[in-house]
Amino acid sequence: MKYTIGEEEVDFLKRLSEAFGPPGFEDEVMSLVKEYATPFADEIRTDNLGSLILMKRGESDFPKVVVAGHADEVGFIVSGVTNEGYVKFIPLGGWWDQVLLAQRVMIRTRKGYVHGVIESKPPHLLKEEEKGKVVKQENMFIDVGATSKDEVEKLGIRIGDPIVPWSPFMRSSAGKTVFGKAFDDRIGVFMAVEALRVLSEHDIQHPNTFMAVITVQEEVGLRGAQTSAYATEPDVAIIAEVDIAGDVPGISPYEAPTKLGKGPSIVTYDASMIPNQRLKNFIMDVAEEAKIPYQLSIVPRGGTDAGRFHLYRTGRPSVVIGVPTRNIHSHVSVLHLDDLENGVRLLAEVVKRLDKEKVKSFSPLT
Ligand SMILES: [Zn+2]
Repeated sequence: MKYTIGEEEVDFLKRLSEAFGPPGFEDEVMSLVKEYATPFADEIRTDNLGSLILMKRGESDFPKVVVAGHADEVGFIVSGVTNEGYVKFIPLGGWWDQVLLAQRVMIRTRKGYVHGVIESKPPHLLKEEEKGKVVKQENMFIDVGATSKDEVEKLGIRIGDPIVPWSPFMRSSAGKTVFGKAFDDRIGVFMAVEALRVLSEHDIQHPNTFMAVITVQEEVGLRGAQTSAYATEPDVAIIAEVDIAGDVPGISPYEAPTKLGKGPSIVTYDASMIPNQRLKNFIMDVAEEAKIPYQLSIVPRGGTDAGRFHLYRTGRPSVVIGVPTRNIHSHVSVLHLDDLENGVRLLAEVVKRLDKEKVKSFSPLT
């Protein structure tokens, strides 16, 4: 299977990464995906929460194979404005307070985007006991450059407005790695959509109905996965996600085994799902047959959309394919383009082989 990440693919990744889309506000990501994927899908629809379903008919109605990535990124929401003209906020998704101070953010208002920075006290004014402590997010505020509450209101900022990190995408000087925000989980979106494009552009026969599903609101509790499982009724669900790279000082390989550049990962355990073992083994077999490097992973804390998909109705065989990523849930994450490329190849190779007999063989009764 020929698939390489060149300039055009990197540009799609950049646009996905820079798109504005915290949980519940994914419309910009969805428009981008819809525009990009329209030539490759036989049918495009949404569910009532906003997840996007891109369907490609193959040789059979059964099985229905879903590859899902979530559109939302961790962000914040405006909770008020102080009399001095600072914006108070609460998190949408999981943040570590230490990564927030002095970082730039973007607020989306009814009048457009407003830039801001999460204010921090200069070291000159810090008391000895403050220096060793993490400032709590609830004590932080965003400076939009205003000098009064009135000025902030004139910008259009209201309670409930969404906020995301401001962080331009770029390639690293090292070459094959990239920096950017929201890789969790725009790279899952990227892989699902690119798998669809590969099948379509190369006219690859697949013995099933394929659906790339772009879910909403994963970071606040896998909500889009729950409704899009009903909307797609999958027979098999493969979730494309970031994996937590362990090749970082201070992280033990036994808590995060994957490394950048060594291939996509097959997640053998996370806190939301234990994968169907026959499906997991099948994916490893496909990777070996197609000579695609892969890594086995565990994610002891944290879950994915698979946590909902595998519990749909009477249960559905599900698995997570990850891309090792450093520094997730922060302004700038780092990943290796080879892992992303091999992730897309693996998904396409798997979809190509998922026929009726194979999917039936995942059932515990056979
Ligand atoms: Zn995620």
